[in-house]
This record gives sequence, structure tokens and C-alpha cells, in this order.
Amino acid sequence: MPFNIMTLSRVDMPVSQAEGQKILERDQYCCRYCGLDGKASFENALVMSVDFVVPRAHKGKKDPANLVACCRPCNTIKGTRVYKSVEDAKKFVMAQRETLRRTWEGQHARASAKAASA
Ligand SMILES: [Zn+2]
Repeated sequence: MPFNIMTLSRVDMPVSQAEGQKILERDQYCCRYCGLDGKASFENALVMSVDFVVPRAHKGKKDPANLVACCRPCNTIKGTRVYKSVEDAKKFVMAQRETLRRTWEGQHARASAKAASA
């Protein structure tokens, strides 16, 4: 049996491989939140998954209308909150990513400054 990369990234995915594949193909293997291109590299492919826009915990349906291609970082950031729409979720995820980026850049700048002065 040939190695299937999708199996690796779908360990805890509650949709079948065929269903997940359909969603990823529909969304061209790009994260619907941050736009990460799952086809650009092996590393990107590894983090691609399928997200329930309305989480299962909130009775989100396993329906193509409720499923989007999503990278794992965005999936984690999105969490189990309920959003009005994919756009609403995207807005939240991108704002959180920006906050995280600024925090990281602040820490990184301090670490670099420290290293330079040492
Ligand atoms: Zn993403």
C-alpha cells in the first residue's frame, strides 16, 4: 500500500479519508484562515487538516458546508468557539495570529539584543 500523507495528518479527524480529501481538493489544499499552501512543501502538507467551522462540540454537522481546509496552527487558535461564519472565524484567527506574531517578534528582538550585547 503506498504511503498516504493524508493519513498522517488525519489521525484524530472525524471525517473519512475520502471526505477529507474532497474538502482539501475543493479548497486547493490551502488553509481557509491563513492561506497556508499545503502543496508548497512537505512540511506544509503535514500540518493540513479539515476543520469543522461550527465545532462538533456545538453540534456542527459533518457537511461540506461546515468543513474547510485548515492548517493545524489555525485550528488550534480557532479552538471550539462558535463563529457566525467562516469569515467571522477567519477574522478571529488572523487577529490572534497577529497578536502572537507581535509577542514572538518582541521576544525574538529582545533575545537578539541580548545575544548581541553579550
Ligand atoms: Zn492556517
